[in-house]
Amino acid sequence: MTDLLPAQTERWRGMEDQIHALMKQYAYQEIRTPLLEASELYVKSVGEQTDIVQKEQYRFEDKNGDWITLRPEGTASVVRSLVQNTLWEEGRITRLYYMGPMFRRERPQKGRYRQFHQFGLECFGSHAPSLDVEVILVLSRLAEMFGLTAPKLKLNSLGDLPSRAVYRDVLLTYLEKHRDALDETTRERMAENPLRAFDSKAPETQAVMSAAPILLDYISDDERAHFDHVRSHLENLNIAYEVDPKIVRGLDYYTHTVFEMVSQDLGSQNAVGGGGRYNHLVASMGGKSCPAVGFAMGLERLLMIAHLKEQSKVRKLVAFPLCPEAESGALRLCEKVRDLGDYEVEWIPGKSSLKAALRLADKVNADYAVFVGETELAASEFMLKEMQSGEQSRHSATALCNWLIQHKEATRL
Ligand code: AMP
Repeated sequence: MTDLLPAQTERWRGMEDQIHALMKQYAYQEIRTPLLEASELYVKSVGEQTDIVQKEQYRFEDKNGDWITLRPEGTASVVRSLVQNTLWEEGRITRLYYMGPMFRRERPQKGRYRQFHQFGLECFGSHAPSLDVEVILVLSRLAEMFGLTAPKLKLNSLGDLPSRAVYRDVLLTYLEKHRDALDETTRERMAENPLRAFDSKAPETQAVMSAAPILLDYISDDERAHFDHVRSHLENLNIAYEVDPKIVRGLDYYTHTVFEMVSQDLGSQNAVGGGGRYNHLVASMGGKSCPAVGFAMGLERLLMIAHLKEQSKVRKLVAFPLCPEAESGALRLCEKVRDLGDYEVEWIPGKSSLKAALRLADKVNADYAVFVGETELAASEFMLKEMQSGEQSRHSATALCNWLIQHKEATRL
């Protein structure tokens, strides 16, 4: 878990602001759910046999004996809230997004943290393949917006539950046949969730998996038609992708389309984001039958590889009352300058020497410094120094504000 220090928070906010603006363009509305949920929520949604639930939960018993989990992902909470607050009506589409910290007790490594941040969106209420595509469009827009170099979109279909059950048995038989060639972890967990063998990084398992039967060969005609629709929309929109049968995603709730975006700039933890369709989750959590599709992306990873636009710089003014009597007039002036908008105004009391104040103004990268000593106070004026040119002038409060406005116009031209 890391602190986000002042040197980083501005970049974070810049990125968050751009994401909020993009979501508005796609008509998604923000939802903020609590960081804590009842532990059983994740057993019901993410699935008991996943790393998130089995190994990585921050889970504790509170004073009432209730088991509480720090949220490891966003979809389960959004679905819980959708059901509890009836945010979806039949026949309508509900589009929601979230941004915030998630918690997984993973082995720390580059690009993997125990508290990290995700942006994610969820689109509820339709089976339409074009909505799988809308969600993928947002992901690829983000990649473009943040200047990712050569991001790759990988796509697969997991079909629906009955085809997956058939395939699961086929895969398990295959794995059993090659049991001795598999790594230990895969051997241990294959009976519970054989698909996860595709996620293994062990070379011996990867060799076995390269010749394994693939789910795409077992999906039904309807499931294939859905997948083909998604693909042809993507092609019409010129969104490059590759079908990768190894994309199975770790969580239980996915059906049909699943996808991941990877970037080679990230090293071994190369997934920027991923998601897919989950048509049964809402109903399994007590809601009506409501198909849905969504994705989540890691903001730490995005920031690592993003090329953010320069943010427009706000001009900075520092104010120094050089004697205690000058303070209230100078405080009033600062308020007036803040009222102009567009200025960062920093108040620095306690300096009596002009030289020391100037040195400090330089150090904090001020564009303007304002001083009030006894002479200025007697004349109800302020001394203004334009730091770049070194030009100095004296003004009343109103005249100083006008000077700032004119100077801003002039230097913009
Ligand atoms: P997931 O919910 O596991 O599909 O994760 C979605 C995205 O969140 C991943 O593609 C990563 O970008 C990011 N992510 C997941 N786990 C972590 C972590 N421990 N630290 C940083 N980012 C993560």
